[in-house]
Amino acid sequence: MEIQPKQPTVKAGTDTFTGDVWLDVIARGEEPSRVRVSVVRFAPGARNAWHAHAVGQTIHVTEGIGRVQARGGEVIEIRAGDTIHTPPGEWHWHGAAPDHFMTHLAIWEAPADGPESEWGDQITDAEYLARPRRYSLAHEGATAGTDHARVACPRAMRRASSGHAAADH
Ligand code: MN
Repeated sequence: MEIQPKQPTVKAGTDTFTGDVWLDVIARGEEPSRVRVSVVRFAPGARNAWHAHAVGQTIHVTEGIGRVQARGGEVIEIRAGDTIHTPPGEWHWHGAAPDHFMTHLAIWEAPADGPESEWGDQITDAEYLARPRRYSLAHEGATAGTDHARVACPRAMRRASSGHAAADH
């Protein structure tokens, strides 16, 4: 057993984040484990840049109201208690709402070889300020056969686990 004392909170870099974002690393597995867990706190308006995770990522919102978007999909509002999974290689971003803090757990794995994540352009204000859709409404779009099915959507994840819409997650 190892008990790790509280480590200093570090500020996220401006190369991959916009606004004030603070990170606490909770777990960084040693081989053969490649698990990564962090707490990420976003100030209102803060978000990360477009990125994709080699082995996918699960984020779980613990506080506040935020935004998430998969490339080609709509901006979705996320709230405390929501869990969002992005599959390997899916480009996306996540952050706080313009007028709310948002904190989430980020859980991912490093690949056996190569970088854990690939980073692209920052999210412009025009992209960020697009009117968000609440995920339950996005899911109704998904069931109607539109391309909203690719949106990261907790309700769709539950459907996926029960055998519906699994191809989209
Ligand atoms: Mn991510």
